[in-house]
Amino acid sequence: MSDCVFCKIASKEAPAEIIHETERVISFLDINPINFGHTLVIPKGHFKKFHEIPDEINQELIIVLSKVTKAITEALEPHGYNIFTNNGRFAGQAIMHCHFHIVPRYFNDGLKFRPTSKSYKKNEMKQFGDLIREKLKN
Ligand code: 5GP
Ligand code: ZN
Repeated sequence: MSDCVFCKIASKEAPAEIIHETERVISFLDINPINFGHTLVIPKGHFKKFHEIPDEINQELIIVLSKVTKAITEALEPHGYNIFTNNGRFAGQAIMHCHFHIVPRYFNDGLKFRPTSKSYKKNEMKQFGDLIREKLKN
């Protein structure tokens, strides 16, 4: 038996406020919401990070993300929303079962994204582009 809490939620061994469910994806309310209605969307299978999720599951996942986001928008009428996924401990991932956060946002709600940003030096942007493009070749 898995000791991953999100696997347990997916298999109904642990309770959660479930919002939506398909064959391979489940959505439920975050237990410590940034704002009320903060929802998590996860593959039912245990994948630690986003890039480990197979394409066919990601297809289902993105459709569910869209559907649940529309529902949150209509139900709560937030001023905006953020969708994000933290991958790896140093990116702030606390639960090592990949999940997407949908966070309803409101004027002056205090949440700040991108507190810092960097500047590329001359040619550096192309170098980073080349490095990543190389891995997309096949
Ligand atoms: P992370 O930092 O890994 O991106 O986010 C993990 C999220 O999972 C946090 O927002 C946290 O509040 C939520 N969470 C942790 N444990 C549980 C749980 O048992 N049930 C629910 N519904 N959410 C959880
Ligand atoms: Zn898991």
